[in-house]
Amino acid sequence: MTTPVLASPTTGPDLVMTPRGNADVRGPANFEKSIVRGVLLANHAAHLGPDAGVLRGLYPDGVAHLWGATPCSVPGHEKTRAIAQRRAGDHLLVYAEKKIIARALIVHCLDNAPLARSVWGDTNGQTWQHIMALDEIELLDDVPAAGILRSLVRQDFLRSLVRRTHREYRSIAHLLPPHLSVIPAGRTRPGPDIPAQLGSEPVPTGPTRRTPQTGQRTVRNTARSERVRDHYKHTCQICGRSMRTATGHTSEGAHFRALEHDGPDHETNIGCLCAYCHTEYDAGGIYIDDDLVVRSGTTGKRERDLHVSRAHPIDRDHLRFHRAWFGLDTHPDVDPTRLKPGWPKP
Ligand SMILES: [Zn+2]
Repeated sequence: MTTPVLASPTTGPDLVMTPRGNADVRGPANFEKSIVRGVLLANHAAHLGPDAGVLRGLYPDGVAHLWGATPCSVPGHEKTRAIAQRRAGDHLLVYAEKKIIARALIVHCLDNAPLARSVWGDTNGQTWQHIMALDEIELLDDVPAAGILRSLVRQDFLRSLVRRTHREYRSIAHLLPPHLSVIPAGRTRPGPDIPAQLGSEPVPTGPTRRTPQTGQRTVRNTARSERVRDHYKHTCQICGRSMRTATGHTSEGAHFRALEHDGPDHETNIGCLCAYCHTEYDAGGIYIDDDLVVRSGTTGKRERDLHVSRAHPIDRDHLRFHRAWFGLDTHPDVDPTRLKPGWPKP
């Protein structure tokens, strides 16, 4: 058995590949929860242990994107080696149903069974305790896995975690879309393909261009809204869904404080939502609190965590305006005696 030659950090990322797992191990739900939407660290505070500081530092908004592997004790097994050798700086490819469904950058590795159990629970008495903290997550469409797997694992499927050198990774790079459409705030990497941080341009002053509205929902395709929607690859920041059309996926740019209510047309006031969540938000069926938790507009019950990329700061004042508009908070720009929409007129 040969030991893989590890890449030196200057030669490009090595590659970790993981199966997402099927429904019997809650693979789709876990993928959605901890990679696509991210988990609120505050909900697992009791289990962060020695990793609390580094995780809070990596995810200043408190939403961590995590994946994990169950233990493997077979000496020399590919998975045992991958667990031992995985490290920050590696790329992660996620495999499911004959496709590569996501790519991410591993920013930290930790072995923390209590945290894994708190986030994902157990499977057959084990948990996914060999955790990888992720960033620069890209959800991929239509990337067939067969060529990649045949080349790198000599099989048509992926059963468990494996790790490959940067050279092997590079040998299959042409089978993947160009890398890095998303880059987090605070980390700079020179390169032509890196967009500026969302919202880095100044908030526009003066009146916003208006178009006549027929419904409550304002669907607009300004350059800024398009940037936000592209940034999230049309994945709804609330429910994680991506609306399909005949030509690909789409989404709506939602203004947290409506343009009609003098909300700015600026990334800090724009979310990437699906039509369903956008309608609910604009109608007050849901609102977002200052911890970016999505709550029911009628019961206040927590429903989801808003998925927010670190490159996309959201101005909480606009969320507060929206809550005040529906009588759920106060805001200097909202008359507190105003009738809540839908309430009977006296
Ligand atoms: Zn949605």
